[in-house]
Amino acid sequence: MANSDVVAALRSTLPDGRVKSDGETLEAYRFDETTLTDAGIPAVVVFPRSTEEVQSAVRVAAERRIPIVPRGAGSGLAGGANAIDGCIVLSLTAMNEIVTIDPHNQLAVAQPGVITADVNRAAIEHGLFYPPDPASFEFCTIGGNIATNAGGLCCVKYGVTGDFVLGLEVVLADASVIRIGRRSRKGVAGYDLVHLFIGSEGTLGIVTEATLRLRPATQPPGTLVASFATVRAAGEAITAIATTLTPSRLELMDRTTIGAVERWKPMGLGTEPEALLLVQSDSAEQEAELSAVETICKGAGAAMLVRSSDPAEAELLMTARRLAHPALKLLGDTLSDDVAVPTRAIPALLVGIDEIARTTGVTVGTFGHAGDGNMHPTILFDQFDPESVDKARTAFDKIIRLTMDLGGTITGEHGVGILKLPYLKSEIGERAHALHASIKTALDPLGILNPGKAF
Ligand SMILES: Cc1cc2nc3c(=O)[nH]c(=O)nc-3n(C[C@H](O)[C@H](O)[C@H](O)COP(=O)(O)OP(=O)(O)OC[C@H]3O[C@@H](n4cnc5c(N)ncnc54)[C@H](O)[C@@H]3O)c2cc1C
Repeated sequence: MANSDVVAALRSTLPDGRVKSDGETLEAYRFDETTLTDAGIPAVVVFPRSTEEVQSAVRVAAERRIPIVPRGAGSGLAGGANAIDGCIVLSLTAMNEIVTIDPHNQLAVAQPGVITADVNRAAIEHGLFYPPDPASFEFCTIGGNIATNAGGLCCVKYGVTGDFVLGLEVVLADASVIRIGRRSRKGVAGYDLVHLFIGSEGTLGIVTEATLRLRPATQPPGTLVASFATVRAAGEAITAIATTLTPSRLELMDRTTIGAVERWKPMGLGTEPEALLLVQSDSAEQEAELSAVETICKGAGAAMLVRSSDPAEAELLMTARRLAHPALKLLGDTLSDDVAVPTRAIPALLVGIDEIARTTGVTVGTFGHAGDGNMHPTILFDQFDPESVDKARTAFDKIIRLTMDLGGTITGEHGVGILKLPYLKSEIGERAHALHASIKTALDPLGILNPGKAF
């Protein structure tokens, strides 16, 4: 089918302004934030404003057997939102209304294009908060978070996106709508379909509304920064903290990452340490908790320990951490791993990443949600130099193999997308992989929803 026919079909069913097919728009909606992944050229980009408009777009896709790629902010780091040749890219960003904040039941109802931090800001006005806080929270969307089951800095204490989704409205591949889940705190009626859609990367349905759980706001956190002369020492401190305490944030930045942030936005982090731990406690006993963290860090050989109860200083430090990915990008092209290991394997992972960087001859900046064992070793390379690309791919592959040898997973929070497709079967096994295909066929028999992604 010619692209012009698809565009005409969409224009005839959707209001003016929803359908764009000019070259600039098509190019802008080809890739997410991932490097070294392929993307096709979409036939058209659609910007629905309601569930009915999403249904109309899906109907056109189903009638013509055209792939449809749901898309939030395009901040994904696995190629999940990359376009497919001739597809409809369905940008959900215009569905950006917070429908309800219900303080009595501690829940929020949001459309998929709502920016994650906006949910939290709306909750705070009612003395509540929405914990999942990806480092991208100022620009990623709730729909993208649900589709990737995003994690974040607070998740070490409070859990990931999926732990805060009570219910969903989803447009299925046949353009019908289901409302699944609940508004009550508990509920076990039927299969847990909500969690089938969470993390399904747009391959099973299009999320058009979410009911999210909120929590009572905590008090301002206390912060501790610890520096280490080796990544192994930092890793040992992380393991000890994560197995005995429940800090609200436990993040790591290695020397390369600290250097990149300091070069971009000097924050006085110092460029000497091999690793920095940023630890926060929002508990009522935060003084005692941070003292326990301090003791552990000292025992692991921390070179420098600084504590602060100043909320502005705390926020500045977390901002520095959130700048890790963009700061590294200023040094060159970046290829981000997203590996996660069991807590006890954290020191071995950190030491192993350094070894891989050395033996492969690449620079790797490692940072991440250390308390969850979820690291983002980010390989710096030059996309125009084939040898550099080759080395980057080799290092990426070796880090994944190391992680799996340590009992970990190929992706802690970014999703499989297309970047990690080659590794999925070896993590989940042939039978479970085939089960994925059966579930996909049951929900999307024509294979139009984001085909070729996630499994
Ligand atoms: C600087 C930076 C920091 C980051 N930090 C974190 C972090 O701390 N934790 C983390 O988990 N991730 C992080 N990410 C990755 C990314 O922000 C997350 O994966 C986020 O959840 C993607 O949201 P998005 O709106 O950009 O989705 P997109 O990238 O547009 O899409 C992601 C996937 O979701 C699907 N999708 C999007 N909307 C819908 C919908 N409504 N229905 C069905 N499927 C849909 C897409 O098809 C795609 O497969 C970071 C990225 C950057 C650039």
